[in-house]
Amino acid sequence: MSRLLANDRIERIKGWGGAVASVGYVWRPSTIDQLLEVFKLARESGRHVTVRGAGRSYGDASIGSENIILDMTRMNRILEWDPTTGIVRCEAGATIEQLWKYCISDGWWPPVVSGTMFPTLGGVVGMNIHGKNNFKVGPFGEHVLAFDIMLPNGEIRTVTRENDPELFYAAVGGFGMLGVFTSITLQMKKVYSGVLEVESIVAKDLHELFEVYFQRIPESDYLVGWIDAFAKGKKLGRSQIHKANYLKPGEDPNPAQSLRVENQELPNNILGFFPKSVVWLFLRPFMNQLGMRFVNWAKYLSSRIAPEGKKFKQSHAGFAFLLDYVPDWKKSYGPGGLIQYQSFIPKETAEAVFRKQLEMSQASGNVPLLAVFKRHRPDKFLMSHAVDGFSLALDYKVTESNRESIWNLAHAMNEVVLSAGGRFYFAKDATLTPDAFRRFLGDETIDKFLKLKHRYDPEHLLETDLSKRLLGSDPQSFTNRTPSKLNENAESTTS
Ligand SMILES: Cc1cc2nc3c(=O)[nH]c(=O)nc-3n(C[C@H](O)[C@H](O)[C@H](O)COP(=O)(O)OP(=O)(O)OC[C@H]3O[C@@H](n4cnc5c(N)ncnc54)[C@H](O)[C@@H]3O)c2cc1C
Repeated sequence: MSRLLANDRIERIKGWGGAVASVGYVWRPSTIDQLLEVFKLARESGRHVTVRGAGRSYGDASIGSENIILDMTRMNRILEWDPTTGIVRCEAGATIEQLWKYCISDGWWPPVVSGTMFPTLGGVVGMNIHGKNNFKVGPFGEHVLAFDIMLPNGEIRTVTRENDPELFYAAVGGFGMLGVFTSITLQMKKVYSGVLEVESIVAKDLHELFEVYFQRIPESDYLVGWIDAFAKGKKLGRSQIHKANYLKPGEDPNPAQSLRVENQELPNNILGFFPKSVVWLFLRPFMNQLGMRFVNWAKYLSSRIAPEGKKFKQSHAGFAFLLDYVPDWKKSYGPGGLIQYQSFIPKETAEAVFRKQLEMSQASGNVPLLAVFKRHRPDKFLMSHAVDGFSLALDYKVTESNRESIWNLAHAMNEVVLSAGGRFYFAKDATLTPDAFRRFLGDETIDKFLKLKHRYDPEHLLETDLSKRLLGSDPQSFTNRTPSKLNENAESTTS
């Protein structure tokens, strides 16, 4: 008989957006031995294991209904650091925040960061995140030199792109399906100042946004566009663009000062007296269609009034982690939370697709409250979300009454994305169907990934709500596959 798990391990865990949740048995190991125990327990209790970092994925990527939730956040030490080469080795539960704070005074910054500093390195590698510099430096995985991964049978392997390219390129971005990262070795980026030179540029419509991007890309280190999704007709796609560049050696007269952690920190108070921990309360009245229409319009107007091409200096943390400025800002979305829909479209068709997405959202009455635009380049990772093109990330407020219509909208937008050869990103996803998943990655890629899954996790211990939604509870019975083909795969790959 299978072992029963203690009820006091039960917790309700949400995706970061708060729109999806499930109940699981949570374990928070602090040592490799405790990690091994979790897999033993999973076998004895007949349960799956869901690997979880900081839970910053918007949807169901790090929740697992009735599974054992393996929370990695306590395995968070920085293990080795060489300030001359910028090579750092960390446990997988260490966060981007720990990393930049540890290294910046020596003149090193993470080569790729998300819009928030709270993700763990295990989660970052599990999703292979991209930054506002994806067009220039690729995703996080391109800067990973090695990782240690515990396979579900307990074996720990040190993997590099040279010693095992197949596992390297599949586990990075493999959404926690092949094993548990226990450590990550990373090449940091050398910086000569704690500040960036930032320029704010306005685009009056979607076409101009693309034009600005095409013009500015060659001279930019970072580029991000904030679109006012409420603007319609001729103004559709009007936006504010932030371009940022590193300072060259010698340009900052006081690098030792600007590189101090204290001079990077986001201020604790806004306008000098509102503690930032309560700002979400003030934002809440604006997080509806009318409020955000006003906020977007005011933001556009103020940037229009400011002199074109206005340049200013901003700390790395201030520029990169704008969204962390207001802690718990997602609470302002209310109890239904939010979902993010991010699609990646080849450069030739991106403008038409994003125009359509904004129009479809407006027509359905679900206007995204935040819309973020980025440039991307393709990469070699098996489950990559990147294209030689652009992405648009759209945040929708979810309520009981609009939930169905948002999911319908997402499914309708999927068709537009797929017919343009676009891709999706598991870190942001909550709505993709198995059919759309298969069409975006193609049979060949999915076959390859499932072969590796059968090889490294033959008991199918690793599972999340996302993997169940897209692959089914048993990947061997995945949609549209003939049993004979699957048996063949299973036989040839199970070692
Ligand atoms: C405000 C905000 C802004 C964001 N901005 C960006 C952005 O600009 N670019 C971008 O790419 N993403 C962005 N993200 C998404 C975020 O970077 C990713 O979801 C990232 O994976 C979160 O890391 P985590 O530690 O929270 O991982 P989780 O969300 O807990 O897990 C992510 C995945 O990794 C797996 N995983 C976690 N730890 C391990 C491990 N040790 N071993 C193996 N697998 C593991 C999980 O099973 C899951 O599949 C943003 C998220 C938020 C909330």
